[in-house]
Amino acid sequence: MSLSCNVMKDIYVLYNDNALSNKTRDEVNEHLKECADCRGYYDEMRRLLVSRRHTAHTPRISEPDYSAVAKKLRRDKIRCEIIRNAATAAALTACVLVTAHVLKSENKE
Ligand SMILES: [Zn+2]
Repeated sequence: MSLSCNVMKDIYVLYNDNALSNKTRDEVNEHLKECADCRGYYDEMRRLLVSRRHTAHTPRISEPDYSAVAKKLRRDKIRCEIIRNAATAAALTACVLVTAHVLKSENKE
């Protein structure tokens, strides 16, 4: 029995977790050998899982979760930047509007 690429994509997570029966695992191995598409997909998926797992496995009891703190700080920093940029944009817009208004009323005189 040969599995389709769609089915393969559904079970790669299980494959990666070693949660498949030997028979299914062999079929996945076979498919990966033959299908470059799925090989690329599986490599990419494994890379994502590994990086996610790496974050999830940061010890939380023995030491503070610096990555989460760093992430929060980064998020706050980005939020600050967005607010600052918005404020700058608003101030610039106000300046332009005031200047335009002043120029317009000067032209009228
Ligand atoms: Zn495939």
